Amino acid sequence: MNIALIAHKMHREWLIQSFSSHQNFQAEIVCFVEWDDISEKHTDGEIPVVPLGQLQKMNYDTILIAVPWPGRVNQLYLALRDMKAGDCVYAIRPSMMDSKRDFILGKEFNAFIVDKIPMLNEKPFMQLLETHVCDDCNLNCKACTHFAPFVKKRQKADVELFEKSLDKLSQLFVGIGLISILGGEALLEPELCMEMISLSRKYFPLSGIMLTTNGLLIPKMRPEFWDNIKTNDVFVNVTPYPPTMKMIPAILDIFSKYNIKYDPRIETNEIKTFAKFMSLDSIYDGHWNNEICAGAGCYQLQNGYIGKCPEGMYIDFMAESLGIPSAELKTKDVVNVLEAEDGFEVLRKLCAPSDMCSKCAKIYRKNINWERADKNPDPADWLLEKQI
Ligand code: SF4
Ligand code: SF4
Repeated sequence: MNIALIAHKMHREWLIQSFSSHQNFQAEIVCFVEWDDISEKHTDGEIPVVPLGQLQKMNYDTILIAVPWPGRVNQLYLALRDMKAGDCVYAIRPSMMDSKRDFILGKEFNAFIVDKIPMLNEKPFMQLLETHVCDDCNLNCKACTHFAPFVKKRQKADVELFEKSLDKLSQLFVGIGLISILGGEALLEPELCMEMISLSRKYFPLSGIMLTTNGLLIPKMRPEFWDNIKTNDVFVNVTPYPPTMKMIPAILDIFSKYNIKYDPRIETNEIKTFAKFMSLDSIYDGHWNNEICAGAGCYQLQNGYIGKCPEGMYIDFMAESLGIPSAELKTKDVVNVLEAEDGFEVLRKLCAPSDMCSKCAKIYRKNINWERADKNPDPADWLLEKQI
């Protein structure tokens, strides 16, 4: 197999080592591909580095996309399709990139970690879709990108609308790499969470399904909850906040007892800081923000609409605290799933900058120590002071 690897510099060494530690896989990396404009071909060690536009001059039979940003994967998928780069294209699931998990199993890519992207299908492929079980949370972190601390009353997903949306998405798209079920805190509503997991599996039998939780309620989940997780082949991603860290041994015991797949970084990656980077004013370069934003492909399905990131979809939870009408805050660049007719149109819209991107100042991001918000959260813990 001659592989063209689309990967950022920071991952190349790991990728080379991964291939060389699997001799049976018999792969040769023929080039690295950069998506940014680079004027000339150069090398990384022995391996040539080429711009995307020159990929077809290389002698490859397989393309592997290995980037940790789901929005970038979608953009690359569309670009490779437009340039007819071939039908043998794989992508490591972006959520698996940071943990640098072994993505090769014997003579194949590990299907749990790597998606084969159907390039020739008349319908498109979406990398990631996230959805809330409920919008509130039992932890209430300052600067939460899903704005959960501002949700005072339980707001649950409408399961009938969720099913209709999945049904429609399964008609518009050939597949979704990863469906991420989260909140707020999804385990506040275990029955609904199970129902949404089962529906996701029904409409997307080949997708990865990930349940993201702060873990605090894991010991309270009943055996049938874990049966659902197992039956639907769900991967559990526990985000280790300081209160979660105290519960790690108990959580791992439960995972071991029920043989649950989970992200091993639960033990090592304690979340100690959050960042605030949003403004209420459209004063930044939205196009540039969209290009550099790691969250630009975290598409959110909410009440039959998809928006390109949680920041745009849930910022209106702050409306009451700010005394601003909800409609003024929330992104207007959303897709009405039930009315959509063309999956490619949907994907291209979601790949483009949204109105909210000009309110995001990722380069001025300010880190804050992880802390719980007060009962009445202060929007200043989410918003930057005006900067240009
Ligand atoms: S755990 Fe914190 S970051 Fe996660 S949804 Fe709850 S409040 Fe937001
Ligand atoms: S609104 Fe902000 S967080 Fe969302 S995609 Fe644009 S730059 Fe990224």
